[in-house]
Amino acid sequence: MAQFAIIGLGRFGAQASLELLNLGHAVIGVDNDAKLVDALADDLTHSAIADVTDERALKELNLASCDAVLVAIGEDLQASLLCVLHLKNMGVKEIWAKATSKEHHMILTKLGVNRIVHPEEEMGIRIAQSLNYPMVNDYLALGHNWFIVEVDASESLDGEPLKSVLGDEEEHLHALLVKRKDQVFASPQDELVLKHKDLLVLAGSLKALKSIAERLE
Ligand code: ADP
Repeated sequence: MAQFAIIGLGRFGAQASLELLNLGHAVIGVDNDAKLVDALADDLTHSAIADVTDERALKELNLASCDAVLVAIGEDLQASLLCVLHLKNMGVKEIWAKATSKEHHMILTKLGVNRIVHPEEEMGIRIAQSLNYPMVNDYLALGHNWFIVEVDASESLDGEPLKSVLGDEEEHLHALLVKRKDQVFASPQDELVLKHKDLLVLAGSLKALKSIAERLE
């Protein structure tokens, strides 16, 4: 179990807190809006109503011992930056922060934030990708146009060998695993006969995914 602090309990911060609690971690939630803190107080491991631009108030929360602190303040640029600065001064090792603009991102980088997230943009990209490739349940972008995708085997693939969805020599996908109910075939053979509703995890270039897309539908 790790210990996290979420600063800013707006929609994004509140959701991140609840998910971390679900995953079995301890979460300290902080906001200067008493109503938001009260609404989550019963779920959170610890909660505090505090203005995080006030270094003294922030120090009292003893956040230096947290495994990571997520600054989930987006709109108020000054509050986000001051809070990060104070956390740095307090020796917090792992700081993640939400950014709402390019400028915000640039300053957070300069302040040494470990990871900067852009939830709206990232979600927008994911939704567009899903609309573009409705057969892809989920994906992981590896960079340089390489992806890992999770797809369900359609009815038309029932009885077909795995190799029929992997493409030709030039534009081919790599099958990482096939999951059939509680059975998992890791690094499956090309000859594996697919069943409708098998879950396929494939890796490949965007080019290969595009050229093979209709076979996956
Ligand atoms: P969201 O889109 O997730 O609601 P916001 O940026 O609007 O994101 O919300 C940020 C949260 O951070 C709000 O709940 C706000 O009350 C809180 N917040 C803003 N400034 C401070 C501050 N100085 N101290 C503590 N909490 C703050």
